[in-house]
Amino acid sequence: MRAGCVECARLAREKESARNAGDLSKATDCAVLLRRHPDHSNKSAHAGRGRA
Ligand SMILES: [Zn+2]
Repeated sequence: MRAGCVECARLAREKESARNAGDLSKATDCAVLLRRHPDHSNKSAHAGRGRA
């Protein structure tokens, strides 16, 4: 997971709450999605000054 990636943050949260709820298959699912999240393999985390 990469800091600053909204999707990863969302998945991590979902994974945690799934685990807390005892939904291990969903937690595993989220873990897999996190590991595969493609957005940050070859570009830097910050696009620059796109922030309002
Ligand atoms: Zn991500």
